[in-house]
Amino acid sequence: MCGIVGYIGHRNAVPLVLDGLQRLEYRGYDSAGVAVIHEGQIKIRRDVGKLINLRNKVESGPIEGTIGIGHTRWATHGEPSERNAHPHVSMNGDFVVVHNGIVENYLELKRELTSEGVTFESDTDTEVIVQLIAHHAQHHTNGDMVEATRQTALRLRGAQAIVVVNKHTPDRLIAVRIGNAGGVALGIGNGENFVASDIPAILEYTRKMIFLDHADMAVVTADSYHIQTLQGEPVDAEIHEIDWDSVSAGRGEFQHFMQKEIFEQARAVTDTMGGRVDFEKGDILLKELNLDEALAKRISKIVITACGTSYYSGLVGKFFFEQLARVNTEVEYASEYRYRNPILDENTIVLAITQSGETADTLAAVAEARKRGAMMWSVVNAIGSAAMRTADGYVLMNAGPEIGVASTKAFTTSLVNQLMIALRLGQLRGTISAEQSVFFAQQLSQLPRLIGQVLEFEDQIKALATVFHNYKDFLFLGRGINYPIALEGALKLKEISYIHAEGYPAGEMKHGPIALIDEDMPVLAIAIQDDLYEKMISQIEQAKARNGIVIAVATEGDTFIQSKADHVLYVPAMNSFLSPIVSLASFELIISIIVSGSFL
Ligand code: GLU
Repeated sequence: MCGIVGYIGHRNAVPLVLDGLQRLEYRGYDSAGVAVIHEGQIKIRRDVGKLINLRNKVESGPIEGTIGIGHTRWATHGEPSERNAHPHVSMNGDFVVVHNGIVENYLELKRELTSEGVTFESDTDTEVIVQLIAHHAQHHTNGDMVEATRQTALRLRGAQAIVVVNKHTPDRLIAVRIGNAGGVALGIGNGENFVASDIPAILEYTRKMIFLDHADMAVVTADSYHIQTLQGEPVDAEIHEIDWDSVSAGRGEFQHFMQKEIFEQARAVTDTMGGRVDFEKGDILLKELNLDEALAKRISKIVITACGTSYYSGLVGKFFFEQLARVNTEVEYASEYRYRNPILDENTIVLAITQSGETADTLAAVAEARKRGAMMWSVVNAIGSAAMRTADGYVLMNAGPEIGVASTKAFTTSLVNQLMIALRLGQLRGTISAEQSVFFAQQLSQLPRLIGQVLEFEDQIKALATVFHNYKDFLFLGRGINYPIALEGALKLKEISYIHAEGYPAGEMKHGPIALIDEDMPVLAIAIQDDLYEKMISQIEQAKARNGIVIAVATEGDTFIQSKADHVLYVPAMNSFLSPIVSLASFELIISIIVSGSFL
């Protein structure tokens, strides 16, 4: 999901919006567009590729207006094309919308609208939003735009940001934030106001910002703004004065970069899926992987090699590759593997996971493997890095830059990438049916919302951090697909807080670490409701029997666990293949809060 910029005031919105979009270019996008209202008409320019194409279009066919909205798109639904680029207009020509995120239930809404006679111009999920607003305005709200937008927003499932304008009321724009897959900032000016998905877009014009909370909407005119919840309750929003120095400005509403990057994860996973998942048919498109059916069927083994956090990500990947594609998978520390004289052949894929794409041990390990005839794939964040350039196939994380010391977005997106590779392999090897492909694509579309929902528990997590920040030792436990998350949780805590922590597959507890458990070593246990839930409960009981204090990460609605654990951190119910990605977000949040002391 990419950039949104909106303007209402006395100047021509077009250059302002285009410049704002330019400042968000670093996020990556595949097409862009701008719309204004001028003399009662909506005027739109859109194009694929870089902003310069859009600028050229605006130059050869100028448009102007004192209210405008713009968008850089990272396609999730429908190929990048002019037709699918935002802004999108309603069939009756009244409303125009830009949108970031995924409408999970767009097919259901599209069917509903189609049966009412609405026709669609694009393949996007976004168009459903604008058509639904127009439909509500016409049939339910007597033309009231605010109410039509509110009612529409309540019907959208997923995490998203929307800005909408109407040609009959060119004195206002409406911005909505649903969930935590990216922010919406209002920039307060003098006789003019701005909206943007990221503050750098509008920082040149104002330092006074309001950040919409999830499920809030703002009605903005040139000299006023009114914020309410989607339930219609007025919101008294705080105005933040953004500092002048660029570092604090980059942090925006967050206390430190790790916190910011934790919150950016929902958005990063959207970016990593963008253009790669056909949410309707379930196809996974990974062009740069250079994987065809013959190769998929020939692969007899995958060796994942990586260091640190990426190694743990590979441990989760093993579950994906083995369960979904039925390929035998090993996970190896690169620093060990390179010296091990490994047994490999031309049917082995060595998969390097590296954020920077330059991790020396990982590069050396794959070089060693290639000497022995193996093929190399990489999952990498840095475009143009060695691990990308030298691979036979690669998948980019699209996580954006990571400034915080601890890797967060890169870990999450590398999990999503491995899940997509495993699904593609499974599709080509015939281990996943067409029906299952659609099912998994739908599961993937929920991921940004699910991660965002965990972040809504920030207050509950702060309360826990208050209790535990003075402890010196922690034990993290998980089972099955979630045991690597226990290892990663412990690594993160050590790495950034210098607090001692151990991570274990819970079943291993009885073979040693159980001796350590007492009231001074709190246990964080992932006990979500999956196949291994009962096993985890029994491990929690064993920890309690040794006076351990247990904090359980559990499935929302599981009240039973409250009788077993001392504290419960809930995560939404979800498919178990997604659970490592979502559970990790709760660990990251608690660690970042403990470290920053932001609960004090
Ligand atoms: N899902 C929308 C689309 O595919 C928005 C993508 C974005 O966030 O850029 O058009």
